[in-house]
Amino acid sequence: MTETKIYEAYNLLLKSFGRQGWWPRFDNNRFIYNKDFKNSKPSEDEAFVISISAILAQNTNWKNVEKAVINLNKENLLSKEALLKIDVGKLAGLIKPAGYFNQKAKKIKEFLKFNKEISRENLLEIWGVGEETADSILLYAYNFPIFVIDAYTKRIFNRIGFKLKNYKEFQELFHKNLVKDYKLFNEYHALLVELAKRNCRKVPICGNCPLNQVCEKLI
Ligand code: SF4
Repeated sequence: MTETKIYEAYNLLLKSFGRQGWWPRFDNNRFIYNKDFKNSKPSEDEAFVISISAILAQNTNWKNVEKAVINLNKENLLSKEALLKIDVGKLAGLIKPAGYFNQKAKKIKEFLKFNKEISRENLLEIWGVGEETADSILLYAYNFPIFVIDAYTKRIFNRIGFKLKNYKEFQELFHKNLVKDYKLFNEYHALLVELAKRNCRKVPICGNCPLNQVCEKLI
């Protein structure tokens, strides 16, 4: 039943919103959405930008991340080598649009020191990288089949009718009930973000919500 509902929700979202092409690749000073879903593994450079963007995306919306990344690109700072050379204060000024900029600049500097094998365990050892950021990096930069849980996912699935509490419980819901496929996890998470923007806001707009028929609306 749970499995059927989770797949049904995915299919309804995909039918309504279409592919989201997430995580957008940065090229030629703009983000490009990968909507035809070739979804090839990001190059090393692309993976680096996705990872930095995942840190910048903490507690802010994507538009603000875009502005911060564009600022970094204008200064030719979208590489590990370049960011290592820049002073943390200057970095903070450039990423100001993403909010919490002093803290995020320090987090990026910590991330630059990382030189271990990419794994959830190792990423979580970095100061400033929590579960959501680590899982975003693993899924979107490195194609690991790991479901990303964010505040939107928790809100939506609690309202649908799953009474879960913490990150681990939500992640297990998806890991146990979906085929472990990074493409599916990639698209599903992106569709949930879109749903949270369009319908399942703090004050939900249920009338035209694609999930109306499967949602218990526990608001
Ligand atoms: S029907 Fe309402 S509460 Fe349920 S997912 Fe849609 S917007 Fe959210």
